[in-house]
Amino acid sequence: MARPSHLQVDLPALISNYQWACQLAPQSNTMAIIKADAYGHGAVACARALDAYAPAFGVACIEEALQLRQAGISKPILLLEGAFTDDEVITAGENNFWLMVEDPWQVDAIVNAKLPKPVSVWVKIDTGMHRLGLAPFRLPELMAKLQNSPNVAPGMLMASHFACADELNNNFTQQQIQCFHANLPSSDMPFSLANSAAIMAWPEAHGTWNRAGFMLYGNTPLDGEHSSNQGLTPVMSLHSAVISLRQIPTGAAVGYGQAWTAQRDSLVATVAMGYGDGYPRHAGTGTPLIINGQRATLIGRVSMDMVTVDVTDIAGVDVGSPVCFWGADLSANEVARHIGTIGYELITRVGQRLPKIYI
Ligand SMILES: *Cc1c(COP(=O)(O)O)cnc(C)c1O
Repeated sequence: MARPSHLQVDLPALISNYQWACQLAPQSNTMAIIKADAYGHGAVACARALDAYAPAFGVACIEEALQLRQAGISKPILLLEGAFTDDEVITAGENNFWLMVEDPWQVDAIVNAKLPKPVSVWVKIDTGMHRLGLAPFRLPELMAKLQNSPNVAPGMLMASHFACADELNNNFTQQQIQCFHANLPSSDMPFSLANSAAIMAWPEAHGTWNRAGFMLYGNTPLDGEHSSNQGLTPVMSLHSAVISLRQIPTGAAVGYGQAWTAQRDSLVATVAMGYGDGYPRHAGTGTPLIINGQRATLIGRVSMDMVTVDVTDIAGVDVGSPVCFWGADLSANEVARHIGTIGYELITRVGQRLPKIYI
């Protein structure tokens, strides 16, 4: 019997979430963002599932893009942060990777490269997030360099990224959109602004291309209720099982640091899932999970390979009882709120040690 801990990945749900992103923005092309191993779901499997639907993919670095090429994915792949070194410009040109340009040094790297053929370039403008992107006041000079370079393929695209698109009541998104259009070199250029939150909640941000990430995996990026949430189905569920069960008396403590003490005679279940699997160690007593189909809560500290659960009031728990940490009946977002993080981090972290079972 193998360790029961695993990730289940529902590929039909991934496809249906992708189609929802397209349906919310019918005038746009929708790129599927599968960086960080498809947010923990397995980039190659997700790319293969989406290959018949998505016209392009986006990743964070060239190693991720090359992994997809080696797996036979031939669609264009955007490097969301562009090249990290001069050499990567050449590799990008050879492999039909699209290059984001977000800092002046990358302009020079592209212009000065010896390329067999021109490379496609997306120019990011810093419209207020102040993390990546060319400063608006430098755009005319830098755009001229790119436009005059034989290394740059025709059809250069302008892009930006939002700082607060998940916040439904924050008008900073509107300010960024205005800043973007005010600085577009010409109004007929193709452009891309929207991440998942903007696809779902800011239709005025939809562009030639939208960049759908988190929503593809079936959780909402939005900070509140919204009609566009209804089209999302969770793709990942995180599973394990009870591996040990014990009765403890009032006053007995559980686990490292004796961080939880029984206030009554209690039944404690030990489950094979820990921070070695990417389940966060700072998940504290009270973090919800589902055991034997019923909601229960974590008690004590998360160990490397195990957690403990108070099952005193849960019927029918035995060694082998199934445990779900998040999935269809308990969202990664809800669990994340208890832990002081976001669903993005939870799903992205658990992909390493755990076997993945694809539906
Ligand atoms: C990760 C990323 C996205 C996708 O963001 P989500 O919130 O996951 O949809 C879009 N654009 C850029 C530049 C990114 O880095």
